[in-house]
Amino acid sequence: MGKWSRGGITPSRKTCSDVIDLLTDYMDGGLAPPETAALEKHLSDCAACTEYLRSLKSTTAAVSRLRRETIPEEVRRRLRSFIALRPSAPWT
Ligand SMILES: [Zn+2]
Repeated sequence: MGKWSRGGITPSRKTCSDVIDLLTDYMDGGLAPPETAALEKHLSDCAACTEYLRSLKSTTAAVSRLRRETIPEEVRRRLRSFIALRPSAPWT
């Protein structure tokens, strides 16, 4: 245990796809400080990821505006029946 091997990439070196994976966590502030530093280092060198971050920020702004609205009753009903139908429930 204790190995964080993820495609053999060390935390200090980020590729563009790593950065894209981590950007949402980064924006939530959920990234560990060394990861944040590595990500910001990549961003300072990479115009493409900087641009991606900018567009992601405007997208998330739109999504969080949506989130504030209540979940439609239809969706809640479907979710409830989905949970009720779960075959793995040990008490059924
Ligand atoms: Zn990049």
